[in-house]
Amino acid sequence: MAAHHAQSSEIAIVLVAAGRGLRAGGDTPKQFASIAGRPLLAYTIEALSKLGAPIQPVIGPQDQGAFVDVLSALTASARQLCRPAKAGGATRQASVLAGLIALEDLGPEMVLIHDGARCSPSPALLLRAVAAARQFGAAIPGLAVSDTIKQVGTDGHVENTLQRASLRAVQTPQSFTYHLILKAHLDAAKHKIDDLPDDGAIAEWAGHKVHIFEGDTTNLKVTEPSDFVMMERLMSAGLSDIRIGQGYDVHAFGPGDHVWLGGVKIPHAAALVGHSDADVLLHALTDAILGALADGDIGSHFPPSDPEWRGAASDQFLRHAVELVRQRGGQIAHLDGTLICEAPKVGPHRDAIRARIAEICNLPVNRVAVKATTSEGLGFTGRREGIASMALATIRLPAGE
Ligand code: MG
Repeated sequence: MAAHHAQSSEIAIVLVAAGRGLRAGGDTPKQFASIAGRPLLAYTIEALSKLGAPIQPVIGPQDQGAFVDVLSALTASARQLCRPAKAGGATRQASVLAGLIALEDLGPEMVLIHDGARCSPSPALLLRAVAAARQFGAAIPGLAVSDTIKQVGTDGHVENTLQRASLRAVQTPQSFTYHLILKAHLDAAKHKIDDLPDDGAIAEWAGHKVHIFEGDTTNLKVTEPSDFVMMERLMSAGLSDIRIGQGYDVHAFGPGDHVWLGGVKIPHAAALVGHSDADVLLHALTDAILGALADGDIGSHFPPSDPEWRGAASDQFLRHAVELVRQRGGQIAHLDGTLICEAPKVGPHRDAIRARIAEICNLPVNRVAVKATTSEGLGFTGRREGIASMALATIRLPAGE
């Protein structure tokens, strides 16, 4: 499939993620809740990006900050396809319309409309959606229903048993000729019809024939807490190539009044000397991740001869290594760092350092360990000549990488 068609105007995608439904027990809308360390919506965008078409996200006006986290969890190629997010409306229908209007400058021939909570549309499903829109003008994916469906009255008694063969459970992406669905939405809005459940229903209301194409059983809508558990398993199942990398770094003390350890500024009677900010722990972690990827070391990615890195904050080195893991379709399972020094005391700063590393790597803090030890007065660390750091990174890559 085409990878870099950001300017293509043939197909575009409206991604609806403005719902306010909360994950059980949380206060974040479900589409921003974390699955295996990344927001749900990041998986959705990553999956949609396989089509190579521009993606128009529509989000709640209060979710701008959460969306920045989604963008930062994306691979560079998926991020490139994302247009600036539009603010959604009071209903799903109003949000879709906002997304469709936002695409007017691109003037696509076809549009796929997809719900953010369906985070794993397969490339084959996306291609079926495009082919169906091209052929029929209005098309939606459906699955045969395996359960018998009963119509139930308000008194709790069955009123009717529906003919299963004629029923379909409908999913997204739903696909349309752009002008057909835009006009149907505008007409519906004009007639104050604002609560139709999906875009297929809007096309029906506007008098169009809506074609059903084959959906995908793995294209689940993540709604219930149990869906999150299942998705977490599914997302990890494909990442069965587990690799461990190690890193080691040393910096010497020099004049100064603070050190940087794990991205946290800690007051001290000396500073660490180095080309960058000399954050020995972040350097060891960066090398551990690069080691797990078998992709050189921090010096080959950020040559000390390059003046650009003089005095640089080391979080960017670590962030770069994390991005390399994401570009390979992988995930960081765990980071474990050790600081070796007589002083400063690391214990009081441990939680701040863990939180900072978790933030840099976009990981839950329970996947980041920071430990410290002295060397009992022995060797260069014992003589307080500098600080050493060791680190391990465990990463998961797609099988067959
Ligand atoms: Mg170093």
